[in-house]
Amino acid sequence: MGSEEANAFDAKDAPKIAGELRESFASGKTRSYEWRTSQLKTILKILDNHEQDMILALRSDLSKPEMESYIQEIAMLKNSCKATLKSLKGWMVPEKAKTSMTTFPSSAEIVSEPLGVILIISAWNYPFYLSIDPVIGAIAAGNAVVLKPSEVSPASSALLAKLLKEYMDTSCVRVVEGAVAETAALLQQKWDKICYTGNGRVGRIVMEAAAKHLTPVLLELGGKSPVVVDSDVNLKFATHAVTFYVKVATRRIIAGKWGCNNGQACISPDYIITTKDFAPKLVDSLKEVLEKFYGKNPLESKDLSRIVNSNHFARLMKLLDEEKVSGKVVHGGERNETDLKIAPTILLDVPRDSLIMTEEIFGPLLPIITVEKVEESYDIINSGPKPLAAYLFTSNEKLKKQFVMTISAGGVVVNDTTIHLAVVTLPFGGVGESGMGAYHGKFSFEAFSHKKAVVYRSFVADAAVRYPPYTKGKLSLLKALVGGSILGIIRALFGWS
Ligand code: NAD
Repeated sequence: MGSEEANAFDAKDAPKIAGELRESFASGKTRSYEWRTSQLKTILKILDNHEQDMILALRSDLSKPEMESYIQEIAMLKNSCKATLKSLKGWMVPEKAKTSMTTFPSSAEIVSEPLGVILIISAWNYPFYLSIDPVIGAIAAGNAVVLKPSEVSPASSALLAKLLKEYMDTSCVRVVEGAVAETAALLQQKWDKICYTGNGRVGRIVMEAAAKHLTPVLLELGGKSPVVVDSDVNLKFATHAVTFYVKVATRRIIAGKWGCNNGQACISPDYIITTKDFAPKLVDSLKEVLEKFYGKNPLESKDLSRIVNSNHFARLMKLLDEEKVSGKVVHGGERNETDLKIAPTILLDVPRDSLIMTEEIFGPLLPIITVEKVEESYDIINSGPKPLAAYLFTSNEKLKKQFVMTISAGGVVVNDTTIHLAVVTLPFGGVGESGMGAYHGKFSFEAFSHKKAVVYRSFVADAAVRYPPYTKGKLSLLKALVGGSILGIIRALFGWS
């Protein structure tokens, strides 16, 4: 923690903060369209006015390259905010619903109402995006919000606390900085929804705390996101097209792995599965493009983030230096502990029971496992926990369909990696161990709203059939109504059996 705001938060203030926000929410202030849009426009203003401050904070926390900071955090947030502002009015309009004979005459609608006070606990790897994007959704849905950024990226956390305090309506939007003790104190309070981004171990702690108050949770977790690279596809192309295909696949794998915070991204490729025949070609291509992108000495490259801290550095070294794995490095492996830098590293044919293949890597190491036939990848992927993302490179239409139908994952991209995150019309979230619930765009609005079912009736047509005394005739009529049989209804009305 590095800011004055951080020092100002004492874990015992948690009930007070929750209470103040609940009071603000109860005043009805956050429900109006005007309040929601004014706060969203304020977020846009923060992003415009403080772009450089954010880039500097990200450099301090992660040595994140400016290009990645701008595109993957600032621009993504601007897009999210603008798209929300553009559609919010429409989302807030109650949705008409059909009614049935049973309630005739009536009308019905689904009203999206804010849940109340939302707690957002975010992670260090995309400290602005993962903090502000759920805040956008919570505000759009008309809630009050407490944001707890990650202490693992202290410069970004301090900047978030400073800027949101300076610009936003602090009676309804608060930032609380802190680590485990502070988060634990927040988790003891009653919230109306908790949105947590991070690992599954803490996800379980969050869910347990939420269960005490029957609070719903949105858990954005991680996992081992596989990339399946098909080789058959080459056969039908001329040689230059094959090379083109491999180059494009290679570039897109590299962009999703090392070009996303040096692999420290939840949807970065975690490992590759390809055929034995194709693996050498893919490795050569990866080596060639990596050198083109990051030079002969990638530890010196300004275009690669560093590892966030020494704990994560040591964790990655443990994966790399495991006895049955260390001999499998076919590219990279260089490290600089002082600067927390690890070069892009490729490993070939690592054992499936190694740490690197059983734990989420979340860093610049990329193992490749090989199979005889690409279809064998389905069993390999489906035998582990469901990943947050799964990627396939192929031009075989049958394989594309099979992959989408067979692999259960938070999201799937065919012939690219990670870009589904940028499609605001798609839900973003995990399944199974990679999380529960989803957000982004309209899905954020829905994640932080309750869909209230409303039926409108008048005082006319008060059918006696639903009231006691219950008779056989009434039962026959109701059965006919429920069954939707016109003939049955006529029979029951005339008392014919
Ligand atoms: P982290 O260390 O920043 O922790 C996340 C949050 O949990 C922080 O705010 C932290 O203060 C809090 N926390 C940590 N320990 C806690 C405890 N004992 N009790 C209560 N709160 C606690 O982030 P991390 O977990 O290292 O993040 C990496 C993981 O997050 C990876 O598994 C990654 O895949 C996943 N992730 C998922 C997404 C997504 O959108 N699905 C995005 C980023 C990261």
